[in-house]
Amino acid sequence: MAESLSARDLRVIWHPYTRQKDMPPPLALVRGEGALLFDENGKSYIDASSSWWVNIHGHAHPYIAERIYRQALHLEHVIFAGYTHEPAVRLAERLLPRLPGPFSRVFYSDNGSTAVEVALKMAIQYWWNRGARRPKLLAFHHSYHGDTFGAMSVSERSVFTLAFKDYLFEVVFIDTPTAGNLEEIKAQIRTHGAETAAFIYEPLLQGAGGMRMYDPAHLDELLETCRQEGILCIADEVMTGFGRTGKLFASEYTTNKPDIICLSKGITGGTMALGATACTDAIYQAFVDDDKLKTLFHGHSFTANPITCAAALASLDLLEDPDCADRRTRIHRQHRAFAERLKTQKAATDVRVLGTVLAFDIDTGAGGYLDNVGPLMARYAVERGVMLRPMGSNVYVLPPYCITEQELEAIYACIEGALETLFS
Ligand code: PMP
Repeated sequence: MAESLSARDLRVIWHPYTRQKDMPPPLALVRGEGALLFDENGKSYIDASSSWWVNIHGHAHPYIAERIYRQALHLEHVIFAGYTHEPAVRLAERLLPRLPGPFSRVFYSDNGSTAVEVALKMAIQYWWNRGARRPKLLAFHHSYHGDTFGAMSVSERSVFTLAFKDYLFEVVFIDTPTAGNLEEIKAQIRTHGAETAAFIYEPLLQGAGGMRMYDPAHLDELLETCRQEGILCIADEVMTGFGRTGKLFASEYTTNKPDIICLSKGITGGTMALGATACTDAIYQAFVDDDKLKTLFHGHSFTANPITCAAALASLDLLEDPDCADRRTRIHRQHRAFAERLKTQKAATDVRVLGTVLAFDIDTGAGGYLDNVGPLMARYAVERGVMLRPMGSNVYVLPPYCITEQELEAIYACIEGALETLFS
């Protein structure tokens, strides 16, 4: 009998964010459709976390697949320095008017971390090109902006960054705002104001920090303070973008808009890897100069890959279908109703909902990313055909927008079953 895919995997693959010692054989998936994925035996699993928060329209979507195929037959890839192509230009033309703020340029890269790296470089070099000295950066506690060194540096120091801490640059970390600490944080921002190049933040929802939600009105006040101090604001909408929080972008909930925005994940509907960083004209103009040293010396081999851009254009088509907004509204309503049910469960604390995201915590005393709640619940769920991926003691549901009412209900029932069986 042929050896299983899982067994072959265990011999040759090193998995991301996975403790390798005693690693259970990974589940081998062969096919996807809508919110479902299927294993080698035809058993189905509901994708409750949109495959690391990327999938928005469902798996193997025929419309996106067709566009990818057609583009691949036409022009699959070309160097993007000195050359251009229709999918990249068209995507920028379509994205810019939809972005939350007066953005004028799009710089492409490959993923969320690189979208953040580009944003940081744009902001730092903006000041350098203008001959100004602003050595500091501001970021939130509990932030997560990616796994490359710049992105790690502006992320909360955590188990993710522990081994690298001596190699990360320093950042001024501030608390996420609440009614109680708002004035204090604004004062902190003012203290560092004239020395600070940029403030990077995940608007409204800190994803990998534990699905922490905070008030847009408070964020707005911080952005206003940054603006008064001339600090550039970088919205990391890698996870919140493309409808995840209800509106198309989370920055639509604030009046003050970012100067730079980082996009990835849902940009291609979750089909292919693409990062995009957009900036305002004021930032872009600081790079338009006779001095060659004022060039942004950054670029990846696969910058603006035409197939990837075609996937993003197809995903935008689907996103703009009014049905898509209706589906997000329905998910939100279902989440809110389930949140009420969860509040009757003793083990579930701090139940919260934002757009299509529902989250809560399980108080085990240990807490944090390494808490055993994560693997325990994930195993319980996968045995019942639900792909959950709690982050330690933080449990969340973040489904593709195409999920049916019944599939979503099945996820909820599974969570309730897990709470009753494992934590009551
Ligand atoms: N920023 C945010 C807010 C994210 O949630 C993530 C990924 N979870 C990233 C950046 C990094 O994206 P990627 O994993 O594509 O590098």
